[in-house]
Amino acid sequence: MYPASFEYVAVDSAEEAIDSLAEHGDREVTLLAGGHSLLPMMKSGLASPEVVVDLGGVDALSGIERGDDATRINAMTEYAAVADDEGLWSDNPVVPEAAAAIGDVQVRNVGTVGGNVAHSDPAADLPAAMLAADATIHALGPDGEREIPAADFFQAMFTTALADGELLTAIDVPHLGSDDAAAYVKKASPSSGYALVGVAVVLETDGEEIADARVAANGAFDHAMALEPVEEELVGGSLDDESLPERAAGRATDDVESYLVLDDEQASSEYRAHLLEVYAERALETAIDRVGDGSNADG
Ligand SMILES: Cc1cc2nc3c(=O)[nH]c(=O)nc-3n(C[C@H](O)[C@H](O)[C@H](O)COP(=O)(O)OP(=O)(O)OC[C@H]3O[C@@H](n4cnc5c(N)ncnc54)[C@H](O)[C@@H]3O)c2cc1C
Repeated sequence: MYPASFEYVAVDSAEEAIDSLAEHGDREVTLLAGGHSLLPMMKSGLASPEVVVDLGGVDALSGIERGDDATRINAMTEYAAVADDEGLWSDNPVVPEAAAAIGDVQVRNVGTVGGNVAHSDPAADLPAAMLAADATIHALGPDGEREIPAADFFQAMFTTALADGELLTAIDVPHLGSDDAAAYVKKASPSSGYALVGVAVVLETDGEEIADARVAANGAFDHAMALEPVEEELVGGSLDDESLPERAAGRATDDVESYLVLDDEQASSEYRAHLLEVYAERALETAIDRVGDGSNADG
């Protein structure tokens, strides 16, 4: 299938992209990053932008920069670069583990972190990882720059806190402490590789106690969400309590209205709710096993 005709605009800087969005604001205008979501939507008629602003030539939006407290992933960085980044594996493995779980090698070489997060596809892998990592999203718009905590960013299916005319420029992923641990596990769709359910976990520990926990899920709901009852069960719990992962994971759908669990041709809501508990337990067990194994070398 062919997309409807559109005007193509290539830009060299983030500022030029913002100007271009504003300039064409009276028409339907959209940004193009890796194109792995946008182009299928255009070809199938689900999206018919009149103007497409291509970020592919904006070198300043690519790459990974390691700071003292956080690692900055610029928006146009491909998943493969994140999955291969040793510094990120050491400082906060939940994000590279989620990036490594995306689709296949072709998708990981072309899809971008900014496109994945800005698109807020319920079945995408990075949104839950960004919630668990407590990442900060940087946006640039006509009124300048702003920072948006991941917890406020994902609002609904394909809907984020980005305003019209704003560009996601980068994401800061905080470093974990040396005794903290993280994990991302998913049940992939056998046909596409997208997450039927994916669970991201970050545990902050103090001795044998779980001092803080962030647990979030993709795939199960219309957008990535924190699993707050699971987090509540974990905080104050002991790493030695072997029943804790199962008990905490069992609360994954507490407070969730049944209609919020996705139900489609790939999986019923009952199956997804079951997967959510199973994969939450696996993610928790994996993270707990990693505490103190030196996987976060930074500290
Ligand atoms: C076969 C296949 C399998 C896949 N499997 C998975 C998977 O397992 N897990 C997974 O997470 N994803 C998967 N994907 C989706 C893929 O990761 C997409 O690349 C991703 O959803 C969008 O990133 P993109 O860079 O391609 O963005 P694009 O498709 O170019 O853009 C997507 C949307 O985001 C907007 N956008 C892009 N960049 C920005 C920005 N910087 N600021 C503001 N808005 C922006 C665009 O305007 C557009 O609306 C798969 C895709 C395919 C084709």
